[in-house]
Amino acid sequence: MLKITVCPHCGKYIKFLIHEEDIDHSTRYPAPIFLRHNSPDCGKWLTIYFDSKMRVSNAFKDKEQTVNKWKFVKEIHSVN
Ligand SMILES: [Zn+2]
Repeated sequence: MLKITVCPHCGKYIKFLIHEEDIDHSTRYPAPIFLRHNSPDCGKWLTIYFDSKMRVSNAFKDKEQTVNKWKFVKEIHSVN
């Protein structure tokens, strides 16, 4: 599914594709992914958290170091 969020680094909209299997559903939500804002002006990483219905619940700058409790945290590059 195509999602849109605001980049906490540059303030621009980011479009990215995410699928159910891209997040770890085995642990308590919200579950994270690492997203790279694939724009020539930005190019930075963020950590985005999803609730059980795959809605974005929060976005933070950089790769959060507190993600150890999840089995995996997928790295995704944005569409724009
Ligand atoms: Zn950005």
